[in-house]
Amino acid sequence: MSKDLEPRIRSLSLQNQILLRDYVETKNSGQNNIRSDLVNLMEIHSGDITGIDYETIDTYVKLLRSDNSATTFNRRLGTIRNFFSYILSRGGTLNFDPERLRIFGILGKDIVNNRSATPLKLSELSRIRQMLQGDDLRHFTFELAFQYGCTLEELEESSRVYDRENRTFRFSKRNVQIDDSLYSLIEGNPQILLKQRRRSTFSDYFNLIAEKARDFGILGNRNLSWQDIKETREQFSLRCGECGDLFDNHTRDWMLIQYSFDPTGTKWFICKSCGERALSHA
Ligand SMILES: [Zn+2]
Repeated sequence: MSKDLEPRIRSLSLQNQILLRDYVETKNSGQNNIRSDLVNLMEIHSGDITGIDYETIDTYVKLLRSDNSATTFNRRLGTIRNFFSYILSRGGTLNFDPERLRIFGILGKDIVNNRSATPLKLSELSRIRQMLQGDDLRHFTFELAFQYGCTLEELEESSRVYDRENRTFRFSKRNVQIDDSLYSLIEGNPQILLKQRRRSTFSDYFNLIAEKARDFGILGNRNLSWQDIKETREQFSLRCGECGDLFDNHTRDWMLIQYSFDPTGTKWFICKSCGERALSHA
């Protein structure tokens, strides 16, 4: 826990301290952000947070929205809303319905467009993949976005459209057949697809990945959004000069070819399927 948070937590009411501790304990990741977001919230109201009125929260949320990027704002708003829902779920009472806070949510379009995208470097990508070993849900999210170019909409669909027998996600716009390693990841942890998650939740996973990556010294102070993954994917792709399609720039998809009739004798990178076709006609 951050040092300056401790005295602030001690000055909260006892009930607030207990609620904060219990709620943070229900979380498997992002605890530091959640704790600090909730301490900020609790400090705007004197006394137990359950007594806060909607007008005060309304003002606070509007302030948050003007002070934060869309991504951070959505994460903080989500924390606040979930926290109030949690209070109700454990039998507490509130002066308002936490669902009202949904109207403040910034739409996904803003989540991905609020700043220009920065691609990961190859070394950062590899270290993030290493870091995500054992963190199955985030690992799954990252690979679907990076390897298969899945959009946030497709991530949201993923739990409903998986055809296990054919190892294929039947998204509304296209089918994506996954490789052995992603298939094994899902087989090893079926929980990944058990629950349907919203696109904002997946968007948050990239924040959580970024947070962890910063802790691991991988990302510096940067954040990571779905848009960055898309940009990374584009940067890592090469276009085949024969068929014009894009492929990842690793050896699995490429080969070298030299046409016997080319007077310059140049060796070219060509996608495997074009290369194999050319060889069979040679
Ligand atoms: Zn090709």
